[in-house]
Amino acid sequence: MNNLKENLHNVRARVNFACEKAGRNPSEIAILAVSKKHDVERILALHELGQSSFGENYVQEALAKMEQLSAKAIDWHFIGPLQSNKTREVAKNFQWVQSADRAKILQRLSSQRPANLPELNICIQVNIDREPQKAGAMPEQVMSLAQTVIELPGLRLRGLMTIPKATSESHDPADSYKRMESVFLALIESGIELDTLSMGMSGDLEAAIMHGSTMVRIGTDLFGPRPAGSEN
Ligand SMILES: *Cc1c(COP(=O)(O)O)cnc(C)c1O
Repeated sequence: MNNLKENLHNVRARVNFACEKAGRNPSEIAILAVSKKHDVERILALHELGQSSFGENYVQEALAKMEQLSAKAIDWHFIGPLQSNKTREVAKNFQWVQSADRAKILQRLSSQRPANLPELNICIQVNIDREPQKAGAMPEQVMSLAQTVIELPGLRLRGLMTIPKATSESHDPADSYKRMESVFLALIESGIELDTLSMGMSGDLEAAIMHGSTMVRIGTDLFGPRPAGSEN
């Protein structure tokens, strides 16, 4: 699990195999390496193996890593819960925000995105299983939030992101991914341009690819288990 080269190879092989089963082309699926709680040395090592997109959940942790890796061509995706008081740093430093889930946050990201930078890529996070404690917009709010992103300067709507309810005897994440695919396709049918459906993690990337994912977010199966003491 600590051999990054082998881990990356294995994740790519799983993506390829899942695509074969789903009748899809592996070039449609991006791999986002989720590097929260992993140190700069490991990020650098994975980057040198050809991985260029990394996802971070905590703003301060991410900024420290970005500073050390500023010479590298890395696309940074913010995927964690986003509070109002952190939007400025996120708007200044990330290329993507995948966890936008309300108008207020979108308005702040828009007004705080520096004018000299390209548009900030946005995925709306959807609470597809309507879990009370979980971040994300409800499925019926997504259309209006998508319109908000389209109207705001400095932002570019790319798609949707979800974290499904944990797998258990009574819940199969494939059900959640299937519903997400319907929400995504309904937006496209209504004329909204989207190219990113961010879903699938280490434990369930196959089910996500079966239901239309275009980006899997992989932490554990690339970097190994997160260090003890980390909250997720
Ligand atoms: C931590 C995290 C992941 C990666 O989870 P693994 O199970 O370690 O692959 C993916 N997406 C989000 C939003 C995360 O917070």
